[in-house]
Amino acid sequence: MQFHFIANAAHEGASGRTIPVIDPSDGQPFDVIQRGNADDMALAVRSARHCYDTLWSKLSAAERGRLLMRLSARIADHIDELTDIEQRDCGKPTRQARADAVALARYFEFYAGACDKLHGQTIPYQDGYTVLTWHEPHGVTGHIIPWNYPMQIFGRSVAASLAAGNVCVVKPSEDACLSLLRVAQLAGECGFPAGAINIVTGYGHEVGEALARDAGIDHISFTGSPRVGTLIQQAAAERHCPVTLELGGKSPQIVFDDADIEAVLPAVVNAIVQNAGQTCSAGSRLLVQQGLYEPLLERLGALFANLRVGPAAMDLDVGPLIRASQQQRVWDFLSDAQVAGIPMVAQGQIVDSAPDSGFYQAPALLRDVPAAHRLAQEEVFGPVLAAMSFRDEDHAVALANATQFGLVSGIWTRDGARQLRMARRVRSGQVFINNYGAAGGVELPFGGVKSSGHGREKGFEALYGFTTLKTVAIRHGH
Ligand code: NAD
Repeated sequence: MQFHFIANAAHEGASGRTIPVIDPSDGQPFDVIQRGNADDMALAVRSARHCYDTLWSKLSAAERGRLLMRLSARIADHIDELTDIEQRDCGKPTRQARADAVALARYFEFYAGACDKLHGQTIPYQDGYTVLTWHEPHGVTGHIIPWNYPMQIFGRSVAASLAAGNVCVVKPSEDACLSLLRVAQLAGECGFPAGAINIVTGYGHEVGEALARDAGIDHISFTGSPRVGTLIQQAAAERHCPVTLELGGKSPQIVFDDADIEAVLPAVVNAIVQNAGQTCSAGSRLLVQQGLYEPLLERLGALFANLRVGPAAMDLDVGPLIRASQQQRVWDFLSDAQVAGIPMVAQGQIVDSAPDSGFYQAPALLRDVPAAHRLAQEEVFGPVLAAMSFRDEDHAVALANATQFGLVSGIWTRDGARQLRMARRVRSGQVFINNYGAAGGVELPFGGVKSSGHGREKGFEALYGFTTLKTVAIRHGH
């Protein structure tokens, strides 16, 4: 049985109700979490406020940095344990779960070093004045986290927020919160004061909504679907609470005729099968220039056919999807594609030993997908790649920008001038040239435009979002 983590202690929820934890690899329950409600959230917010007022806001930036560094080291000492937890809870193949745990340690390391480097400015003004600016913490920040990368998203938003001087109340996804409950314990063990990091588990429409509406939350960082992002922003607007929204994507990989095909192939496969395609920045649309379209699809089809899907512990190319409803969602997309006559180039293989009760989906490569079809417009959130061809740069830009999303773009060409022209013309928060994702890049600011959200997390830039700027004008005469 798992409990909320509030003020460095395990708390049973006020409702006395629980939610089963399901292993996606076999569809079986193996634990329970608390089904939190507004009372639990209020308790966590009070504990956070008390910590902020009495202790956290009085620490120097250097002291905060040392605490974050200690937690980074403690996470690094528990990589194996966190990997095992995440593998079972999220169905992540071992290497992917481990990469998330390593990234979590790295986020705390990066932001530990950033704590005492968040400088304000002095501003030249009229004679007789000195004007300066300070980056002040919001106070208590709320973090609503999805199930696809719990540790990475916790790392990027909670570490940055603590570094900026805030304390945190976290609402993880009801589908994946075990690793975060353990990380919060590790923080308490290594000296974080009671109330600095609080975790309240439960359903989004119950405890998530309570967080969004709680007047004690001074800033909300939401990562999740555009639909829920809208609800969060509406709730926050009622009390003018600032919000960072990290939402979905339908990101294009744009491959020109002159691209290095040997570099393109593994990157295109990885960008759609990593975490079984359940990645906000998945490269889910493949736009290929006409001359390379047939040869690229032929080689890519052979790679897709060889992909193996199975239980997380087998550490194959692809693990299960998170839950049965996600599997059904992917099936619906594929059956719509079949009805529309969209050709399937190739599909991977689910291994025979995968339990029937697990949520498996073979990766699928589809071609000639019409730009207006939902497969080219909507986030599938599964290992399904939609390929289409383009004529020239203008056509590529038109296709790339023709969705509601704008999170990430990949551009593959050896032509340097074209790299820069394309990077300017595609509308997305990140652009990768001759690579996709730059291996994660804790240092690299991340976030979207259009329905992919607003605000930036990761990198030093995140600290600005977790602070508010105060301008101080001092009149001292001559
Ligand atoms: P979701 O929107 O269903 O849930 C996200 C979180 O919001 C969960 O903790 C959930 O419990 C909570 N929630 C649900 N309803 C709520 C409500 N009414 N009020 C408050 N909270 C509520 O998303 P998901 O299915 O968990 O995650 C997948 C989505 O997240 C995809 O769209 C994906 O692209 C997006 N995502 C974006 C990024 C990014 O950085 N841009 C990263 C990861 C995932």
